[in-house]
Amino acid sequence: MDYEAVIGLEVHAQLSTNSKLFCSCSTKFGAFSNSQVCPVCLGLPGVLPVLNKKALSYALAAALAINCEIPKISRFSRKNYFYPDLPKAYQISQYDEPLAKNGYLEIFLSKDTVKRIGINRVHMEEDAGKLIHCENEDSSLVDYNRCGVPLIEIVSEPEINSSEEAYEYLMSLKSILEYLEVCDCNMEEGSLRCDANVSIRLRGENKLGTKAEIKNMNTFKGVQKALEYEIRRQINLVEEGEEVAQETRLWDADRQITLSMRSKEGSSDYRYFPEPDLSPVIVTEQLKEQVLNNMPELPLARFRRLMEECGIPEYDTNIIVKDRKLADYYEECVKLYSKPKVISNWIISELLGLLSKNKEEIDQIKITPLQLAEMFKLIDKGIISGKIAKELFVLMYESGKDPLVLVEEKNLRQVTDQDSIDTVVEKVLKEHCQVVEDIRNGKEKALGFLVGQVMRETKGKANPKIVNDSLLKKIKG
Ligand code: ADP
Ligand code: ZN
Ligand code: MG
Repeated sequence: MDYEAVIGLEVHAQLSTNSKLFCSCSTKFGAFSNSQVCPVCLGLPGVLPVLNKKALSYALAAALAINCEIPKISRFSRKNYFYPDLPKAYQISQYDEPLAKNGYLEIFLSKDTVKRIGINRVHMEEDAGKLIHCENEDSSLVDYNRCGVPLIEIVSEPEINSSEEAYEYLMSLKSILEYLEVCDCNMEEGSLRCDANVSIRLRGENKLGTKAEIKNMNTFKGVQKALEYEIRRQINLVEEGEEVAQETRLWDADRQITLSMRSKEGSSDYRYFPEPDLSPVIVTEQLKEQVLNNMPELPLARFRRLMEECGIPEYDTNIIVKDRKLADYYEECVKLYSKPKVISNWIISELLGLLSKNKEEIDQIKITPLQLAEMFKLIDKGIISGKIAKELFVLMYESGKDPLVLVEEKNLRQVTDQDSIDTVVEKVLKEHCQVVEDIRNGKEKALGFLVGQVMRETKGKANPKIVNDSLLKKIKG
């Protein structure tokens, strides 16, 4: 039988405001436990929450960037449940009147295939605290610093049909939030979290199957792996004549399996009701305009523009555009040096390689776009060879010095002087009479070996074309 997976993702993104959603406590990560709390976020009696305007405009930017409709009025609701990390015993969230709805996100699948994934809603809510379970002790500690930190929840329609699409969706969403600078998207610190809902059905069927909700993935690759496992598990169940249970499952990254955690609570279990302490959120046309006017060019638009303007391959463009700062760097270079493909090649193979080797980000790089452009010009002018440039590039990366300064310091200039090349060539020919003989007898390929020897003697600095010509002349006369 041919089955199709149906996936809907719920992403929580922490908004990168300095203060919390309803009070002025700091949101800074990593502070001493319970040092960033006040009566409002601790839920003490007699206090009133006040909405953080910046959080609202960040949430709006995200919602508008994924093409949502923004109703004029949205409201906060209380979601009631008891848990030790939730001191009020309710979470202020939005329920039946969310900030934004009916949007879509375009994901890039392969050449010219862009798929639209519907966005059901985007709403604002506050985060809960954190429990710290003590090992070897039957007790837990609770840190309320995270209580009241602003989040948005972005809920997709069940329109994602494979684990790869889910991965692409998450990458695209992350990239948009980073471009907007509304979320730092640091998954290790929990600023971006994802729950995945998944069901299967026979291909061609319209009705949705029973879904399982998977939690506890802390990387996007983890989400992809968890979905792959879960889709397989559900297909096996159905093929054995059993039924998929509606439940919440946990991803066990060590064992690479999902495990049943609990049967899923329905929304009625939360006894949602309107939050009486906050007035409705009114989004005026003026506020919407203001957010739209401040919006940067978004990743997909930039992708299309760079493909068109720079004529670089789709694969390169995709890598460069995903990271806003890398794309900014690239575009700076293109302004200074007019061969976009050369630049993208270097960025993708050399620069990204060094960054990942050194575990650094593009904004830590010491090479300025101007220095990189100068390095390319040194190659074009024949002052250094392409091969030496790779060495030079590493030196520039480590020191931040100008390329020409390093070329002089390290004596990297390409040798183009005929006499000195001829001298080395003669030496090499003397040392490898047999190879010379072979070449004379038609084994042309062996010439490469001799070129290699000359390059070795000159520490890679001889101009390869001159070396080649000199060898041929001396061998064949
Ligand atoms: P719940 O009431 O369980 O929270 P929702 O209808 O609010 O369910 O949907 C939560 C998420 O689950 C959404 O992203 C939605 O797209 C997805 N979803 C809903 N039904 C299914 C299904 N049958 N299979 C896969 N995903 C689903
Ligand atoms: Zn507070
Ligand atoms: Mg729901």
